[in-house]
Amino acid sequence: MNPDESQLHYPFGDELPQTGRTIEVAPGVRWLRMALPFALDHINLWLLRDRDAESGREGWAIVDCGIANDATRDAWEHVFATELHGLPVLRVIVTHMHPDHIGLAHWLTERWGARLWISATDFNAARLASQSTTGFGGDAAAAFMASHGLADPEAIDKVRKRSNYYASMVPQVPPRFRRMMEGDLLRIGEHDWHCHAGHGHAPEHISLHSRSLRVLISGDMVLPRISTNVSVIDLEPEGNPLPLYRPRSNACARCRPIRWCCPRTASRSAGCTRASSS
Ligand SMILES: [Zn+2]
Repeated sequence: MNPDESQLHYPFGDELPQTGRTIEVAPGVRWLRMALPFALDHINLWLLRDRDAESGREGWAIVDCGIANDATRDAWEHVFATELHGLPVLRVIVTHMHPDHIGLAHWLTERWGARLWISATDFNAARLASQSTTGFGGDAAAAFMASHGLADPEAIDKVRKRSNYYASMVPQVPPRFRRMMEGDLLRIGEHDWHCHAGHGHAPEHISLHSRSLRVLISGDMVLPRISTNVSVIDLEPEGNPLPLYRPRSNACARCRPIRWCCPRTASRSAGCTRASSS
């Protein structure tokens, strides 16, 4: 248990958005969940009311996508039919390159003729990973883990056989993107959102902070009940990601006070937490 958890409130308690439905957590910010076939069995995703800067066309921005499978596509179609008030999706924002975040970005951007917004590092890492097996399974990953003490032959074999693990959840990445960087300011609908780059979990994770709404969409950089995964992988065997993931570079530390923190997961019950200092 995180000793600091007592500072957090879970304002929705046990209330969860049903599959294909959303809950408003702040004006123009809606929360939805998609199922995942992992121990961590869901991902929180976000819809932000948006307006095209050039045409003035009203619509929505999606933040993160879910993995590429039929169940997630069906859930999105239900969201489109029931939750968008007849408005289109204008852009697809992805916090980072992990499959549960970028998996359906290709389908979503094609479906709506919308642009993918992501950091350049994660765009390129996702493109590479979806086209090869390097670094996310296969012989090299198995040998790397064995060299660090993984001795169970069954476990090593499992890693070796995961040669298409990433591509099975991210079969395609959009061919074009719009870059988000540390310090960028995005105008999304009625609100400005500051981009904060974070490292250690993904190559260049972007969290979004709206000062006017006091909302932080933290992605995987800030989680309420479990630790963010900070891993060394065989692609960068001498990597030391933990110092990269220090509080100073942590988006949350620079965004206080916040009223709502919208993480990628929040255990069994709520998707949004409220800092008690707010
Ligand atoms: Zn992640």
